[in-house]
Amino acid sequence: MKAAVLSEFGQALTLEELPVPEPRDDEVLIEVEVCGVCHSDLHIVDGDLPRFKVATKPHLIPGHEVVGRVVQRGAAVSHLEVGDRVGVPWRHGNCGTCELCREGYENLCQQGGVTGMTVDGGYAQFMRARASHALRIPDALRSDEAAPLLCAGVTSYRALKKAGVAPGQRVAVFGIGGLGHLAVQIACAMGAEVIGVDVSADKLAFARELGAVDAIDATDLEALKALRKRGGVHVAIVTSASHAAFDAALQCLRPTGTLGVVGLPAEPLRIPAISLVASEARIIGSAVGTRDDIRAVLEMAALGQLRCRVEIRPLSQVNAVLDEMRRGAIHARVVLDPRT
Ligand SMILES: [Zn+2]
Ligand SMILES: [Zn+2]
Repeated sequence: MKAAVLSEFGQALTLEELPVPEPRDDEVLIEVEVCGVCHSDLHIVDGDLPRFKVATKPHLIPGHEVVGRVVQRGAAVSHLEVGDRVGVPWRHGNCGTCELCREGYENLCQQGGVTGMTVDGGYAQFMRARASHALRIPDALRSDEAAPLLCAGVTSYRALKKAGVAPGQRVAVFGIGGLGHLAVQIACAMGAEVIGVDVSADKLAFARELGAVDAIDATDLEALKALRKRGGVHVAIVTSASHAAFDAALQCLRPTGTLGVVGLPAEPLRIPAISLVASEARIIGSAVGTRDDIRAVLEMAALGQLRCRVEIRPLSQVNAVLDEMRRGAIHARVVLDPRT
């Protein structure tokens, strides 16, 4: 099979011919239709996050937004059939018995591995996956639109869910890119009044198209101040990695508001304690999502409440795509097709 392989951090992936993997008893073999390219893939390839770098398997096939068909199943797998279309997310598995798993935080389990980091992922024609973590894709969804929901979609969804977004609340989404454009739609589907914030006029127009009632230029301090004067937002979700976005988001919060951290700036956040104390604000993190969160996002998309903007590229262009991502030249999401 064809696969894109990481042999050395920071170097181009090599396109190689490898044997098709053999599924273990609790696994399925999947013929990959598409695999999304996520910013985390770039961190893994570049080896620029120590936490990821130590966990990355040698001679890795990256990719954790995989959609494909089951073509073979292990002896212990009964709930999936050959021919089923499934999605494989970031979390390759989880132990099911640790304290976090028992409390419903399977997304935070320290065991079970990560697809496309500790085990091979979907930048290939075939991959094997734990059957327990290969999730059925609703028929109403195209594979290319479903793939990014497995990471970008669920990450946005869980952040909004954890922030407790309720109908009628004002929600600001900072950064209308791959995650942000999904966050706008999910917050709208949750019944919120959504305000998009970005530095690009195109992206602001895009936010309005997606249902935002207002779109604010992040450099327009007066507009941000006016937002606060109108009462501020209940929830601000920051998908951008810019410190300025986090500072602005904190200023837009109404008292008791929640700042949801999704973007990952390289440097630590600087949050003035007084901003938290004086307004009883909360800051929350959110880590991808559980299988139930993924099912919920896929369901929303199947109902037409959420549509991911995707560009399909052949797997052979993977290095060009990663370069575009390094330069910030990718809008919304790219998926790789290993069949072309
Ligand atoms: Zn991801
Ligand atoms: Zn666990």
